[in-house]
Amino acid sequence: MNRREFLRSTSVAASLGLISPSFLSCSNPADDVLPDGANFKGSVLVIGAGAAGLYAAQLLRERNIPVTVLEASGRVGGRIRALTGFADFPIELGAEEIHGNRSIWYDLVKQAGGSIVSADGGTDFYVLDGRLRSESELSGDTDFRAAQTFINQATNYSGPDKSVGQHVRDRGLAGRVWPMINAQTGNEYGTSMDLLSIKGITEEDQAWTSGNSNYSLAGQSYSSIIEEAWADAIRQVRLNTVVRSIDYRADQVVVTDTRNQTYRAERVIVTVPLPVLQGSDIEFLPPLPNAKIEAIRLLGVSAGMKIILKFGQRFWDADLGSIYGQGLVPEFWCPSVRNGQRTQILTAFVMGESAHVLSRQGTGAIQTVLAELDRLYGGAATRLFQDGRVADWLKEPFIRGSYSYPTVNGGLAMRRALATQIGNRLFFAGEASHTTGHSATVHGALETGRRAVREVLS
Ligand SMILES: Cc1cc2nc3c(=O)[nH]c(=O)nc-3n(C[C@H](O)[C@H](O)[C@H](O)COP(=O)(O)OP(=O)(O)OC[C@H]3O[C@@H](n4cnc5c(N)ncnc54)[C@H](O)[C@@H]3O)c2cc1C
Repeated sequence: MNRREFLRSTSVAASLGLISPSFLSCSNPADDVLPDGANFKGSVLVIGAGAAGLYAAQLLRERNIPVTVLEASGRVGGRIRALTGFADFPIELGAEEIHGNRSIWYDLVKQAGGSIVSADGGTDFYVLDGRLRSESELSGDTDFRAAQTFINQATNYSGPDKSVGQHVRDRGLAGRVWPMINAQTGNEYGTSMDLLSIKGITEEDQAWTSGNSNYSLAGQSYSSIIEEAWADAIRQVRLNTVVRSIDYRADQVVVTDTRNQTYRAERVIVTVPLPVLQGSDIEFLPPLPNAKIEAIRLLGVSAGMKIILKFGQRFWDADLGSIYGQGLVPEFWCPSVRNGQRTQILTAFVMGESAHVLSRQGTGAIQTVLAELDRLYGGAATRLFQDGRVADWLKEPFIRGSYSYPTVNGGLAMRRALATQIGNRLFFAGEASHTTGHSATVHGALETGRRAVREVLS
């Protein structure tokens, strides 16, 4: 998730005198003490080796509890994945920023000796009426100011639920600023503004406690941090093991994979992404309770992509924050800036309906994105282009989307229903099951893994 954009736009609006941002208090979930597990007799199966599953397994291993992690794909990390060998620094294809410094994730990266740098700052540019302009150049534009005010007040909404897009129309905001509002709300939350609940983002932002600055890791990938910090958990992972059923009728839960191999344990923690649950890839015996089925149905996940473009030379502003586009790419940024590296990279960050369109183009999406940049930079993108990669999370067979967002009527109550354990045997973790505002992030996923371990040991 790219909450830095919301925060950066907050400071823009503050500098324009539009709002007086009030920031939330912070607490660190890593400070809570987990049971030592001495009273727990039995073993645990964890389904999925992403952030939530690996961290849960690591906590269990630290308590000498037997644990096996079943992972469908051929690698660990899930939505944490780096592209290496393409530039002179690793490029994160999934999670890229650390949102806030009051979190298990921030602490873990710091303890591992990672070089944490600020991801805030830089000058943002907006495409309005087909022209690229900085925020200061647009400060006299009434529609721009109205859009920024709207964005900064979006998470103070009270009233009947509706989509952000509907709220934009109800407020009478000019159509020329809709794309920038979509970029800074819908796209930021991993979807499009017409699918995103205004009440849902209000609830989530008001529950947020991780701090308001954003960071990234310079010169190193998150995968390398995980591999070191959770080495013990990773040794318990069985790769290429696609779980197809979980039978929790008896004291021992029986998990079966697609090769008909069975695994047994007293407790099972399910951390698979929401689309896998929505697609009924896993059969539960007995079927999940209606409240959970309803939660799985109502929470949303859209398509999501990063298109990584390498250029022979920089043609954008040296101090670039983000470019908010008007076409199929809602946002571009330059990861090289934060890494202080020589290779010139732009990342196109595309979520929601635009990502569904670009996903259908396959690698052809690179040409579409170059054409959008050419219109802004007089053809420089195509002229200086060297290489590109498309990271399309919709096409990852065991992930099938970006990250969860609240749909209209699908807010925190649905996340609570998703998170609820069943019969002290079946437990649910993973970013979508975060119940206090940190869904769609790595640290949120870790907090759910920790919560599930607490439930298992209680
Ligand atoms: C493009 C993109 C950008 C992002 N940017 C950020 C960011 O800047 N900052 C941030 O904090 N977060 C970001 N996120 C979100 C973050 O990556 C996720 O919230 C987090 O990594 C999710 O972890 P998880 O453990 O819940 O799920 P996952 O990482 O998806 O792990 C679930 C695992 O379950 C496995 N699985 C699925 N089906 C089965 C099955 N049947 N049997 C066995 N295993 C199965 C999957 O293969 C996967 O490995 C981003 C995500 C994306 C896609």
